[in-house]
Amino acid sequence: MHNDLKLFIELAEFLISEEKNHPVAIPLDTNTLYDTIDLELKDEPTIDDAFKETLKDIIKSTPKTASKAFFNQLFGGRISKSTLGDLLAVMLNNSMYTYKVAGVQVGIEKIILQNICKRIGYGNHSDGTIAPGGSMCNYMAMLMARDAYDASIRNEGVSRKLIAYTSDTSHYSITKNASFVGIGRHQVRSVQTNAKGEMLVDDLERQIKDDFKKGHHPFFVNATAGTTVLGAFDDVEQISNICKTHQLWLHLDGAYCGSVIFSKQYKHLVKGIELTDSFSLNAHKMLGTPLGCSIIVTKDKKQLYESFSNDADYLYQTDDDAYNLGKTSLQCGRRNDALKLWTLWKSVGNNGLEKIVNHQFYLADVARTYIKANPDYTLYSFEDSISVCFNYKGISAKVLCTKLYEHSKLMVGYGTFREDTFVRMVTINTQLEEKDIISFFKTLEDFVDSEDL
Ligand SMILES: *Cc1c(COP(=O)(O)O)cnc(C)c1O
Repeated sequence: MHNDLKLFIELAEFLISEEKNHPVAIPLDTNTLYDTIDLELKDEPTIDDAFKETLKDIIKSTPKTASKAFFNQLFGGRISKSTLGDLLAVMLNNSMYTYKVAGVQVGIEKIILQNICKRIGYGNHSDGTIAPGGSMCNYMAMLMARDAYDASIRNEGVSRKLIAYTSDTSHYSITKNASFVGIGRHQVRSVQTNAKGEMLVDDLERQIKDDFKKGHHPFFVNATAGTTVLGAFDDVEQISNICKTHQLWLHLDGAYCGSVIFSKQYKHLVKGIELTDSFSLNAHKMLGTPLGCSIIVTKDKKQLYESFSNDADYLYQTDDDAYNLGKTSLQCGRRNDALKLWTLWKSVGNNGLEKIVNHQFYLADVARTYIKANPDYTLYSFEDSISVCFNYKGISAKVLCTKLYEHSKLMVGYGTFREDTFVRMVTINTQLEEKDIISFFKTLEDFVDSEDL
């Protein structure tokens, strides 16, 4: 192990220097991928230098998500205290299903869940778990809602038309999950949104009433804190009123921006969060932990147990159920995704998490201010969003993003809202500074000049 740890440090240092010197790796063509790098698995072992060189080739060619040129997705950067926690978790290699096997790591996960429940005002009966991704958090929410609506479905299956509601700007996992949950994709109603991409509450209520009239069974509403393209926040309070009236489960998908709960300045964006039945957030997005760290909490832990617990004598042999986390998880064996958030949180405190969140909004403000001051740009992004959407000199966003990538200048993606397609620059890497944001725009502008786009 000792030799491989030394090798690991050497490779990690190599990666860090690559990130500096080649912040966008030269993209590999899929047609030549297997000819360019020795990925083949052979009969004979690959050892020592050849092994190390192959690993270095792989590192060189892998897209650099922690570099200053990565604005492509809803994650990025590297916060070392959090990476440290994840490296430790790999070394410890516990499975989170039982207290016997995970020990103190269970306490670490529970402390995180309790803190989040308390922070959002969920009360003493709440609990949660860590799922393999935000999509799976939404899946768990819909399952709990289904079983809360009709507990017999777990054994008998779905026999009626159960209807779910989500906005037309929400994450695609909601529709996908409807098929997993057994209600079917066609039973997901797409609720209209306003010009900012926020759910139109009147349209929600109109559709719910319509479904009741038809004899269907409305059971679930998904609201979003930070829509995937524009970063819009649905009005939780208003939506919750409708859910109360019609007795529907309200889930708040905060995968992208649910972490605003850590900021005094921005938590107003999820005002009314205590009125929801479940809430999820991806710590690997705004909080900057390594992928993945997806947390779901629910106000009534009974729903978690009812939907996810199973007896298994071969597994649950000691300790209280509250400490055997397998009773409330989607999986059986489960990787320790808690420690990386805990090491970050412990090392920077609540105030540090707040700073991380606030800084991303600050960077987005820097970007929007730059765009507004320059008539060559068209802005599509709204205040209080860390998705900075824009077009430059009327150039096709798709062409611009693709060329920037092919020429190893920047990694940034594009998005579409209604009839507009635009560049979506995500200011989620909390290690960037004002000058890095300005440098993004300068790089883009110089590139457009030099390529004559
Ligand atoms: C990213 C995202 C998800 C999905 O999370 P994964 O961890 O990628 O599965 C769900 N909802 C929203 C709003 C997101 O931005």
